[in-house]
Amino acid sequence: MTSTSSSRSALIVGAGFAGSVVARELADAGWKVHVIDRRPHIAGNAYDELDAHGLLVHRYGPHIFHTNGERIATYLSRFTKWRPYEHRVQGVVDGVAYPFPINRDTLNLLYGLNLDEAGAAEYFERVREARNPVLTSEDVVLNSVGRDLYEKFFLNYTRKQWGLEPSELKAGVAARIPVRTNSDDRYFTDTFQAMPAEGYTRMFERMLDHPAISLALGVEFERRAMTPLYDHVVYTGPIDAFFEYRFGQLPYRSLRFEHEHIVDMERFQETGTVNYPNDHAYTRITEFKHLTGQAHPGTSIVREYPEATGDPYYPVPNVENEALFKRYETLAKAETGVTFVGRLAQYRYYNMDQVVGAALTAARSLLD
Ligand code: FAD
Ligand code: UDP
Repeated sequence: MTSTSSSRSALIVGAGFAGSVVARELADAGWKVHVIDRRPHIAGNAYDELDAHGLLVHRYGPHIFHTNGERIATYLSRFTKWRPYEHRVQGVVDGVAYPFPINRDTLNLLYGLNLDEAGAAEYFERVREARNPVLTSEDVVLNSVGRDLYEKFFLNYTRKQWGLEPSELKAGVAARIPVRTNSDDRYFTDTFQAMPAEGYTRMFERMLDHPAISLALGVEFERRAMTPLYDHVVYTGPIDAFFEYRFGQLPYRSLRFEHEHIVDMERFQETGTVNYPNDHAYTRITEFKHLTGQAHPGTSIVREYPEATGDPYYPVPNVENEALFKRYETLAKAETGVTFVGRLAQYRYYNMDQVVGAALTAARSLLD
């Protein structure tokens, strides 16, 4: 199909961060864009909604926005105002809630110590099991905090979350969690930490509100029937599904979300999220009012139960899976009329801001 750049058309598969950002960028550049999603809503896994009690909740688990990318925060600020929010998490071990990530206060509380910053650094130095090279998530944790803290906070959480041993996961998984010698108890230290003031879904509504963007929800991508109708396809679903599992299934970890509303309880827990590394079948409980700042006489929480089957939420970062992904990526690179972008299509453990960055890059390369 020959067409000038001002009349080019694109089909975007997926209305999450990856699809919606590319859709907006192409539409702003004069393309005609059609967005489909198999789900009945936009915003992908970041979708939020009012529950039956009027509390804003995240259907697919807690989503906390944080970035060091000024460009990314500025970009999204076109579509939302923000509510400053710094996420805090506790980890429960033997019935006691400790600051998590592990910091100086975690050590002092757990071991009855009175360490200052230098003392905490010496403590970690003494208990760590030096590993070289650091290849797996087990290596990362043992190398920084040693075996006791590894067993108390990381080993069973990781088994539960992934159905794998930490030694079977790449270093990057556990390396998401810092270790601190000071008393900083924030989960993230990014320069920009905030929640969309009216929620993620509202932000996506504004992003997709453009005369050149049409949207169809509850629509499954049909490669053979749909691809010829557009100049270009931007695919943000699982990459193995696009290629009809030609090399076999890429593992994605799933979750079951159990939402609950508690009446006449203003606060359920002290921090936005409480992790349960060793107890229960769920990994963590999040109380949404911490994230949203909403005032309400009751409160809504969600428990996350890891599952082997179900909707794909997490790529599983290990050597074998990444090798399989590379085979699919080779096919993807040969597919000239299709761009693959996003957490499922690129098989990367991306945070939201990283997906926005990848989507802006993908759009730029289509427009250049
Ligand atoms: P998705 O949001 O998955 O969107 C892809 C869309 O494509 C989906 O809506 C899907 O229905 C659609 N689709 C797929 N295949 C098809 C098809 N064949 N036909 C039609 N439609 C299709 N990130 C953070 O930065 N902070 C957090 O606190 C955070 N917490 C998270 C908590 C959980 C439990 C999970 C699972 C993720 C979390 N993330 C967090 C990561 C964040 O969700 C992702 O980075 C981001 O949403 C990915 O956007 P995406 O567009 O790539 O994918
Ligand atoms: N992790 C852990 N114990 C915890 C929290 C995290 O062992 O209390 C490990 C676990 O392997 C987890 C990874 O660190 O999958 C990354 O945690 P994060 O909170 O970033 O996971 P996400 O929010 O992406 O589910």
